[in-house]
Amino acid sequence: MSTNVLVTGGCGFIGSNLVRYLLRERPDWKVVNLDRLTYAGNLENLAGLEDESRHVFVHGDISDRACVDRVLREHAIDAVLHLAAESHVDRSIEGPAVFVTTNVLGTQHLLEACRAHGVRRFVQCSTDEVYGSLGPSGAFTETSPLQPSSPYSASKTGADLLALAYHHTYGLDVVVTRCSNNYGRYQFPEKLIPRMVVNALRDQRLPVYGDGQHVRDWLHVEDHCQGLLLALERGRAGQVYNLGGGAERKNLDLVKGILAALGKPESLIEFVTDRPGHDRRYAIDAAKSRRELGWAPTHSFEEGLADTVRWYVEHPVWWERVLSGAYRSTVTLARRGH
Ligand code: NAD
Repeated sequence: MSTNVLVTGGCGFIGSNLVRYLLRERPDWKVVNLDRLTYAGNLENLAGLEDESRHVFVHGDISDRACVDRVLREHAIDAVLHLAAESHVDRSIEGPAVFVTTNVLGTQHLLEACRAHGVRRFVQCSTDEVYGSLGPSGAFTETSPLQPSSPYSASKTGADLLALAYHHTYGLDVVVTRCSNNYGRYQFPEKLIPRMVVNALRDQRLPVYGDGQHVRDWLHVEDHCQGLLLALERGRAGQVYNLGGGAERKNLDLVKGILAALGKPESLIEFVTDRPGHDRRYAIDAAKSRRELGWAPTHSFEEGLADTVRWYVEHPVWWERVLSGAYRSTVTLARRGH
């Protein structure tokens, strides 16, 4: 059955990978991409799709009800994959307000519009950070307590709970996914892996928080996209599904691995004051997603990381334009309606 799907935040890191993934995996689907083009939204992430008639980019805000109504109606949207968010923990510590505005209120506006238009499925893309921090052992399941530590994770928790409430109260068909740290192509170089790669390529210091012993579970972005599609097609309404890569790594070991892959010295590492409230360890138990969705990550972390590092090495123009701010010129054109 052909489907018209709305991806919000489709010009960001995961969203742009998801747009490509859906167009490739579902040849009869139309993918409408609603993105406000904040600093994290980059039309150059979608290079090569200019002539793809099944992809429609709409420059707009999830909180703009008139805009969302128009998109849902004009494109007869069947399902929504909601990724648009403020996503960077450090920025949420510097300025939490926009995180509440976009992640909590924005999600509520979108849910309301989806309810009014009878959207058949709403997938809320969320994070393992809603569960807080783990000790040295154990893993988060879908029933782990919600104990977010940062304004970012607190705002995502609020959005998840609103989405689930729209299911329980209004019967909107909602599925929530919670995944671990993603890595891959087109990730904004403020996040750990691209930041380290780009700094190393420029022989600049690689800042590592605290003692570098924080543990993250890494998920290749394409495995995440597969999980989102399966959640859309096979998830049970009102359920939460964890998606984890099963690749726990200490930050310091990860950074050393990147330096080794690039043939750069470990002396570039610089330990910096830890992030306030920094969660120590995340790990995901994805058994439910494997069992109910038939989901399984296909990328080994070593191969996925090597491929990702190679991509940044081979695409200096992409990240140089991000670092210089030149990528914003395409944003300006989009704002003018070109
Ligand atoms: P990103 O910051 O790279 O992209 C976010 C996108 O949302 C941008 O294109 C931005 O322009 C857009 N956006 C922001 N506010 C908007 C608004 N009001 N209206 C419309 N568009 C808006 O983020 P990402 O890393 O691709 O993350 C995507 C989603 O996945 C987020 O919901 C995030 O919480 C979740 N997530 C990310 C990770 C990760 O490792 N990156 C892990 C778990 C969950």
